[in-house]
Amino acid sequence: MTAAPTETSVVDNVGKDLFIGGQWRKATDGKTLPVYDPSTGKVLCEVADASPEDGKAALDAAVAAQPSFAKHPPRERGEILRRAYQLLIDRTEELALLMTLEMGKPLAESRGEVAYAAEFFRWFAEEAVRIEGGYAVAPNGKGRFLIHRQPVGPALLITPWNFPMAMGTRKLGPAIAAGCTSVIKPAAQTPLSMLALAGILAEAGLPDGVVNVVTTSDSGGVMEPLIRDGRARKLSFTGSTAVGRKLLEQCADKVLRTSMELGGNAPFIVFDDADLDVAVEGAMLAKLRNIGEACTAANRFYVQRGVADEFARRLTEKMAAQPIGRGTEEGVVIGPLVDEAAVEKVSSLVSDAVERGAKVLTGGEPIEGPGHFYPPTVLSDVPQDARVAHEEIFGPVAPINVFDTEDEVVAKANDTEYGLVSYVFTQDINRAIRVCEALETGMVGLNQGIVSNPAAPFGGVKQSGLGREGGTVGIDEFLETKYIAINV
Ligand code: NAP
Repeated sequence: MTAAPTETSVVDNVGKDLFIGGQWRKATDGKTLPVYDPSTGKVLCEVADASPEDGKAALDAAVAAQPSFAKHPPRERGEILRRAYQLLIDRTEELALLMTLEMGKPLAESRGEVAYAAEFFRWFAEEAVRIEGGYAVAPNGKGRFLIHRQPVGPALLITPWNFPMAMGTRKLGPAIAAGCTSVIKPAAQTPLSMLALAGILAEAGLPDGVVNVVTTSDSGGVMEPLIRDGRARKLSFTGSTAVGRKLLEQCADKVLRTSMELGGNAPFIVFDDADLDVAVEGAMLAKLRNIGEACTAANRFYVQRGVADEFARRLTEKMAAQPIGRGTEEGVVIGPLVDEAAVEKVSSLVSDAVERGAKVLTGGEPIEGPGHFYPPTVLSDVPQDARVAHEEIFGPVAPINVFDTEDEVVAKANDTEYGLVSYVFTQDINRAIRVCEALETGMVGLNQGIVSNPAAPFGGVKQSGLGREGGTVGIDEFLETKYIAINV
């Protein structure tokens, strides 16, 4: 019987070096960077801090591995992903604890993320053998068209700290399935989940150089030369819109294919005719999943006047009852935010709303350290010009604004540069279809507070991004279409 994982064992067991060309190696200048536990502020361990030179070595390895990996049989690419899926599932407890330690989310949510992350590998294991082309007769009846799909080439992948494993598998799954090699750079705050994933992929039989992991405190300094190098043909980025814009400019130079999963500002709309039990349950999920630190988090609650007081009362009661604490303690629902800057940002958004007339129904003040805690907070009477209506909160704060008509709420919901997801609660089917179609977002949760699913196309419109991850279209982001004109 294997011993239950402990905080020390899970941190000790993960590789701390760079993973390049199938080897673990130190940063060339020997530098390391600290990884913190956000619930205590203490250092968990140090990992290699890559320099631009290390980044180049990782790209060299990906470029060298690309031709042979492109020819690797699709079934075998799928089998590698399937084995990695199983290893992730088998090691859920260790991986969940590791994730909670570096990121803060409660264990139950980390377990959920390991399952969600693994599912991208299983899904794309199945997609690897379904890369279809086509054959057609030219309209003039003479020629023939052969449509062939090939890997786009070496890819650069950049992931954020909030879902440190799933944002990695959501890119690595389709990249591997399509036959692309990659250099992946996790966020400096949460490198351990990605390093654990690299070890698992190697164990699952991934050939050397197919996935290369660089951890660094100098993300711009390491990644910009790789983007501008020209040998990588693709950038897939998940993170903030501000950084995404900057990376798009860098990609323009060598005309890289890009996939951008950026920020969100999700409206959560409750109509008078909604089932309030379902709406409150959906609100709790959409607001508190990942302690509110999710691109899909409900950012603005618009509730129709007839149910506004009752919805606010029920939501406040539930939000106030959530246990707060270190994510490693069973039963905790609200872990710490990722760092002190996150607490300051949430506090300043709440203060701004209150100064403009919002009322605090619960929470509203940061919790004293150690650790970076902010309590579940509900605000009512939040005016549309408050900063919370326009900026990503990334914390457990639910601002409520009352509306009267369907046209009014659709206009308010669409009054943002973002367009990732929206949530709609109504029992009127005609209204549901009208509103879902009118909302300018890539995804809509209709009477449900979670939309993420590896089998569905995830992504945003407007400044929330370009492209889709997951679903049957997810692999397209890593494939080029070649057409061969045949003279018959
Ligand atoms: P971020 O600051 O944009 O960072 C995201 C990633 O980009 C990190 O790995 C970061 O590395 C790296 N990075 C930062 N500056 C860079 C640069 N100049 N060049 C290359 N890489 C750079 O975002 P975050 O604060 O980590 O994550 C939260 C954001 O991600 C939110 O806006 C959230 O909505 C968004 N998000 C979107 C989705 C989606 O699917 N749409 C999913 C999850 C999160 P370092 O941290 O090491 O600097």
